[in-house]
Amino acid sequence: MSIGIARPVIGEREKQAVMAVLESGQLVQGAEVAAFERAFADYHGARHGIAMNNGTTALMASMMAHGFGPGDEVIIPSFSFFATASAVLSVQATPVFADIDPATYCLSPAAAEAAITPRTVAIMPVHLYGHPADMTRFEAIARQHGLVLLEDAAQAHGAAIAGRRVGTWGTASFSFYPSKNMTTGEGGMVLTDDDEIARKLRMIRNQGMDQQYRHEVVGYNFRMTNIAAAIGRVQLESLPAWTEQRIANAAYFNARLTGVGTPVTAPGCTHVFHQYTIRTPEGKERDAVEKRLNERSIGARVYYPRPIHLQPVFTTMPGYAAPSLPETEKAAREVLSLPVHPMLTEEEKALIVQEVNALC
Ligand SMILES: *Cc1c(COP(=O)(O)O)cnc(C)c1O
Repeated sequence: MSIGIARPVIGEREKQAVMAVLESGQLVQGAEVAAFERAFADYHGARHGIAMNNGTTALMASMMAHGFGPGDEVIIPSFSFFATASAVLSVQATPVFADIDPATYCLSPAAAEAAITPRTVAIMPVHLYGHPADMTRFEAIARQHGLVLLEDAAQAHGAAIAGRRVGTWGTASFSFYPSKNMTTGEGGMVLTDDDEIARKLRMIRNQGMDQQYRHEVVGYNFRMTNIAAAIGRVQLESLPAWTEQRIANAAYFNARLTGVGTPVTAPGCTHVFHQYTIRTPEGKERDAVEKRLNERSIGARVYYPRPIHLQPVFTTMPGYAAPSLPETEKAAREVLSLPVHPMLTEEEKALIVQEVNALC
């Protein structure tokens, strides 16, 4: 038996919801999608939810909806999943990488502010591992410099600062990939309070149409199916309990792990623990610890071993000069994520603690 880093839960109710859609014959975007959008936006306190076929297209559509293009710079962290950067590149804009806060692993507001140039149009922090980025400060910086604020919330369903949930500060993209805190198979959603951005997003995901065969903007097919949305509606009902269990599992590990750096939750924040990420101590070979845990059936994984600014796609670009991001590079060498998903049993949690404490 092995303890996977993620264990998506598909229960009887998800199966029944899918069967009902199949029997209805209404397979593509329709009433189920609209109901899922309303429920997911309401849960976060956002005005609009626009469902997409995955989190990557949610990010891409957000870049398009704001009209970013060649010459525009978007400040993002390098310590993230690649899609954070490829979304910026998808509109031929330039990703500008800034360093992270070593405590939360999220984009540092000071570093982001220092990266602003006359060409900067937007900042997009990532709520990495389920910890909300410091949106209060990002909001102030964006306002002061006249920048658009976006959120890569793909890992942070329900995360909050002082009770205010992510997805309510900027144009925010979520993912429902099976490893995320809730799933629709493949799926994504953008939340926004801006009526015009919402209207554009709805057109962009559906061939740029505002009505049948009238194409107002360039759009594509980024639509979610009713099948996916039906799963999402059921999953969303379980999300609060799953989040509570993730937080409880994290507290269990925090209280018992001895030789490693345990995750920090900034004051007032609700960290939803998409990942429970430790720092291996100096002098320990992180990759060796990962390998040993894997051999002992514990699905520890590194998110992310190579920061985006050092990926070959960038380092081989003509004229590219990799910025110096010491905290990002240090984190990439030291972090290790342990299974924290809500389906962990007491025995599995105890085994994880025992094995990690024996190795570090
Ligand atoms: C998962 C993820 C995405 C992309 O979502 P997909 O649904 O897999 O396309 C984007 N950004 C981050 C930070 C993610 O973790």
